[in-house]
Amino acid sequence: MFIAADDTDSSTWMCTTFLATELVRATAEWDLIGLPRLVRLNPAVPWKTRGNGAICIRVGRGAGEPRLCGRLDGRDLVCYARSAGEPDADEVMARCWPVVERWSQTDSSDPGLAVGRNAPAPDLYYRAVREIIDQEEAVRELLKVEARTFEMNSGRGLIGAAAAAAWRPQDRTYEVLAYRERERWGLPRLVSEDDVALLDDRFPSTFNNYDRSAGRPVIVPHTNCPVLFGVRGDSPLEVMDAARSISSEPVERWMLFITNQGTDDHIVTSWKALVPSSSYLVEGEVVSMPRTIPGGHVIFSLGTAVGDLDCAAYEPSKGFRDVVRMLRPGDRIQAMGELRDRPRTMNIEKLNVLSLARVEVRSSPRCPSCGRRTGSAGRGQGYRCRKCGTKGLPAEAVSELRHLSKPLKRMGQISTIAV
Ligand code: ATP
Repeated sequence: MFIAADDTDSSTWMCTTFLATELVRATAEWDLIGLPRLVRLNPAVPWKTRGNGAICIRVGRGAGEPRLCGRLDGRDLVCYARSAGEPDADEVMARCWPVVERWSQTDSSDPGLAVGRNAPAPDLYYRAVREIIDQEEAVRELLKVEARTFEMNSGRGLIGAAAAAAWRPQDRTYEVLAYRERERWGLPRLVSEDDVALLDDRFPSTFNNYDRSAGRPVIVPHTNCPVLFGVRGDSPLEVMDAARSISSEPVERWMLFITNQGTDDHIVTSWKALVPSSSYLVEGEVVSMPRTIPGGHVIFSLGTAVGDLDCAAYEPSKGFRDVVRMLRPGDRIQAMGELRDRPRTMNIEKLNVLSLARVEVRSSPRCPSCGRRTGSAGRGQGYRCRKCGTKGLPAEAVSELRHLSKPLKRMGQISTIAV
């Protein structure tokens, strides 16, 4: 039996993943089947609060070996690979809707909760992670599988709930989320930055831990939400070990999620037209010099199969903009990012340099008589040596040093630079 929910929090308060822990608690008389799921949907959805995350848990009668997947109310939480019996959907709904009602920020959210035996078809997930979909469509899919639904306000959260239930993990990663004691919500978080800085070395399959250029942890949120930190990685066991290695204020509860984070599931790789509010992989030739506009954003134009496309590396991408600034007309690249509507611009998340144009810059020659660097003798008059007076020297063409290519070659892997 799946239980899926979305759109319960505001930008400053609560977190849908915390609601997942409360749903696990409310359904504790049944067993957890599989890991709780944290499913990120289309990041280009304009009405998302933060990371467009929805959740789905499954409950039943556990069969097989129990596996540790969290700690709640001072007890270990386990999940089972299979279910040998289904609870009654109405009974499960009766336990869950009061939880959603209690924790939802109804002044600024549109909660949706769905409970059902059979999950909607996976196509719904792929559409919801890549496109904008109608609530009617999501509700139709839920009705098809005879799911029970509960909604508040517009109930738009049913879109995320249906899509989270529809996810069948292909590529997947894991995240341990640790939560704070209730009385500390809103206070500064106490997490050892040194321990976080060591995660990459000590637990190599974890990622997005520490921003070395800024010298700060990435795993600790900055809002008033109940999350203390979240450790992401490819191995469920290693993310749990990594989370345990971090000294911090008391962890009130934690839970391991299976997620679609870091999978690029949201990228549309095969397309005929570029429609805003989706993210694409596009290939083309740089056709204009990158330029920095007010606000520190860097913009350039990319010639693609469907015409020229303005691409942007926005100010928050920091050092990534320096890479983009080094692009030159004639470079061939693949770029991934979200297409925005107004102005119609692709917000680049990653780029892969396929080939670099040879760029020539004109430089003053050395004096053939005395070896000194010469200076311009005036418009159209070549160069003149100021030391010995030799005149009429032609300019010298030299290749510009492209710092970009070196690290890509040295890495010798898919030439992708992430923001
Ligand atoms: P958090 O990450 O903190 O959980 P959030 O960013 O998920 O917050 P929500 O408040 O859940 O923000 O808002 C996202 C809303 O967008 C939800 O109502 C969800 O149902 C809806 N939604 C998600 N994906 C799509 C989509 N592809 N098309 C249309 N609506 C969507």
